[in-house]
Amino acid sequence: MKITKITSHVLQYDLPEQLGYSQQYYAKRSAHLVEVETDEGITGWGECFGPGHIALANKAIVEQVIQPMILGADPMDRDVIWHKVYNLMRDHGQKGMPMQALSGVDIALWDIAGKVANLPVHKLIGGAHRDHVTVYGYGMMLRPEPVADLAARFVDEAAEIRDMGFAATKMKVGLGPKDDVTLAQAVRRGVGEDFRFMVDANHCYTTSDAFYVGRALEELEAYWFEEPVAPEDHDGYRELRAGLKVNISGGEAEFGRWGWRQILENRGLDIAQPEVCALGGISEYLRVLALCHAHFTPVINHVWGSAIAVATNLQLLAAMPPMPGGLHPWEPMLEFDTTDNKFRDDLLVEPLNIQRQVKQSGGMVAIPQGAGLGVEPDRAVIDHYKIA
Ligand code: CA
Repeated sequence: MKITKITSHVLQYDLPEQLGYSQQYYAKRSAHLVEVETDEGITGWGECFGPGHIALANKAIVEQVIQPMILGADPMDRDVIWHKVYNLMRDHGQKGMPMQALSGVDIALWDIAGKVANLPVHKLIGGAHRDHVTVYGYGMMLRPEPVADLAARFVDEAAEIRDMGFAATKMKVGLGPKDDVTLAQAVRRGVGEDFRFMVDANHCYTTSDAFYVGRALEELEAYWFEEPVAPEDHDGYRELRAGLKVNISGGEAEFGRWGWRQILENRGLDIAQPEVCALGGISEYLRVLALCHAHFTPVINHVWGSAIAVATNLQLLAAMPPMPGGLHPWEPMLEFDTTDNKFRDDLLVEPLNIQRQVKQSGGMVAIPQGAGLGVEPDRAVIDHYKIA
C-alpha cells in the first residue's frame, strides 16, 4: 500500500458575531482538514490546529514540505513516517506550525490504519477503558463590550450551558485582573453553587496578576485555572501551582515529547491539556500521554476545531488508561465548544450529535465505533466552505 496524494482543505465562514479570547477578537471560523489518499482507494482524514492565516501556512507545509517526503511510503508505517518527517524538519521547527502540519498527516495515517484493520482507532491503541466520556461545554467568549454588559451576558450564558446538560463549563478571561474577577463571579452566579466551572486566561497574565486572579478563583471554587501565564514561563507555572489551591492547567501550546518532558519535570501543572492536532498527532500524543502519566499528571485533552478533531479526541479519551485507577476513578472529560461552529455540527455524513447526546444522557457522549476515527466528512460541505 502506498501514499499517492496529500491534500489540505482550509475551510472558513463568517461568524454571526465577533468572539474573543485574551489575545484577539475574531470574526471568521476556520478549520484545516488533511486528506491522505492511497493506491488501494482507502482515504484517511486528519486535522491541523491553527486558524485562518496559520492554516494557510500549514497547508503549504503539508502539501509542499511533508508530501514530497512521504509520497510512495506505506501509510501503515506511520511511526517510521513520523520520525522521517520530524528529523527532516527538525532544523526548521521543533515546535509550532511544522508540528501542527505533521499532526494532521499523522492523524490521517491512523484513520487509514483503522480502515485497513476495520477497527476504530481506540482498538488499535489497545481498547476502550470507557465507552462514554463526560463532556464540558465551553463558551463565555469575550466580546468587545463594557464589562458590566459582558458580566450580565456571562450569567445567562453560563446558566444556558448548564441547562444544555453539560457536566461543567469553561469561560474566557482577559480584560485585566479586576474585570476578570467580576466575570468569574458572574459565571459562578450563573451556574449556581455546586456546578463545576473553569477559567481560561490564554496566557495573558504576569505571575503577580495570575496570583491575584487565582486567589479570587479559589474563593469561587473554580475547578481549574488554564494557561494563566505564558507557556515559556516555566518558573511562573511552578510558583502558581505551589502557591494556589485552584488546579493549574495548560499545555495546549507545547509540542512533542521533549517540550512536554520539560514542562512535566517543572511540576507546574495539576492537569495537562495536550492538543493532538498540534503536538505531533496521535503517534506523539500517545508518547506525551505516557510521559504525563509517568509524572502522575492527569490529562484532559485540549480540543479545538472541526468534528474530525472531536472524533479524534473521543478515540483517544476512550483509550486513556485510568490514572491512578480505583472503584470511582478520576475520569477525563471531552472539551466541547458551544459557540457557533458549522465545522463541528454540519461537516460529517453522519453527525456526532454531541449536544443531543449530552442533553439526553446527563452530560455524556458515546465513543464512535466505526473504523478509523469512526466518522466521514461530507465532500459537499468541504467544497462549499473551502477557501484554499
Ligand atoms: Ca485554552
